[in-house]
Amino acid sequence: MGLIDIKSMFPEEIEEYLKPLNQPAYRAMQIFEWIHSGVSDFHKMSNLPINLREYLCNNFYIADVKIEKRLESSIDDTVKYLYSLRDGEHIESVLMRYKHGYTVCISTQVGCRMGCSFCASGIDGMVRNLTASEMISQVMTAGKDNNVRISNVVMMGMGEPLDNFDNSIRFLRLVSHEKGLNIGLRHITLSTCGVVPGILRLAELKMPITLSVSIHAPNDQIRNNIMPINRKWNIVQLLEACREYINATNRRISFEYALMGGVNDSDECALELASILKGMLCHVNLIPVNPVAGRENVKSERTNRFLSILSDKGINATVRRTLGADINASCGQLKRNLDKEGW
Ligand code: SAH
Repeated sequence: MGLIDIKSMFPEEIEEYLKPLNQPAYRAMQIFEWIHSGVSDFHKMSNLPINLREYLCNNFYIADVKIEKRLESSIDDTVKYLYSLRDGEHIESVLMRYKHGYTVCISTQVGCRMGCSFCASGIDGMVRNLTASEMISQVMTAGKDNNVRISNVVMMGMGEPLDNFDNSIRFLRLVSHEKGLNIGLRHITLSTCGVVPGILRLAELKMPITLSVSIHAPNDQIRNNIMPINRKWNIVQLLEACREYINATNRRISFEYALMGGVNDSDECALELASILKGMLCHVNLIPVNPVAGRENVKSERTNRFLSILSDKGINATVRRTLGADINASCGQLKRNLDKEGW
């Protein structure tokens, strides 16, 4: 029988496994605390009896990610990681330093099946979902490697978190656990390309995270062309789900809009975007599109113009600061290099 992924478990679940062993109930919390303080060897859990450590070794594994490549920006303090997983797959994370602390951008899947036309992560489709423990490990390793406390997490790396719903929610609960990394849900952002049923399920959970929606286009015609998901759930359905989300959680949604020259950056697009978002509790993040090998991404020269139209129309909008421009910090690109060139 295969070993069980203990790092994805809540203390109550660990406790269930220990019941037949007649251990005191507090053992489960001790184990949880060891694991979430970054210990990945049961033998180092010095307050557990030796025979329990042996038992844990024989039945469970502690997930980890291994740093295969580390790139540090010479412009800012951004660090990009290529990690390998237990089964040899690769994912990426990025550590960013902001005024308010350190943020890690994590991946939620190996690859992605959403197929957005401008994105590197989906070029080869989806390989598998990440476990909650693999998501946690990305945060822990980035913190440990730089000897810093991580205060914020964004689920904006490779993959679509709402296409891996249960593990993403489990991750949110584990990473915010007070005996674990204890990163407050208010400091976590989950980004989706618009998986409507997922947004509605998330709304029901009323978690105080920030929901970020990658909208990237003001109408179905353009959005259908660049984001295949729009043919399944169109803009009307997406915005309806966003309104339900706002009603249920009272939280402002953040809309991501990557400006692509000649595709979605005209005055008409800005006006149309302002009109569909009018009256909504939201913020628009304008992102200069990142060039990706194999994708025809043309940077827009109209960022400021686009921003001023939105602002004139009363839409709360800012331009996202670009970090790590010299290290291919937009997710999916490092793994692509690995796949193509073998490094
Ligand atoms: N699947 C989720 C989260 C991962 S992508 C989502 O779609 O939101 C994180 C963000 O990066 C999304 O807003 C995505 O549209 C954006 N993105 C992907 N490729 C990009 C590129 N080449 N330039 C700029 N933003 C990009």
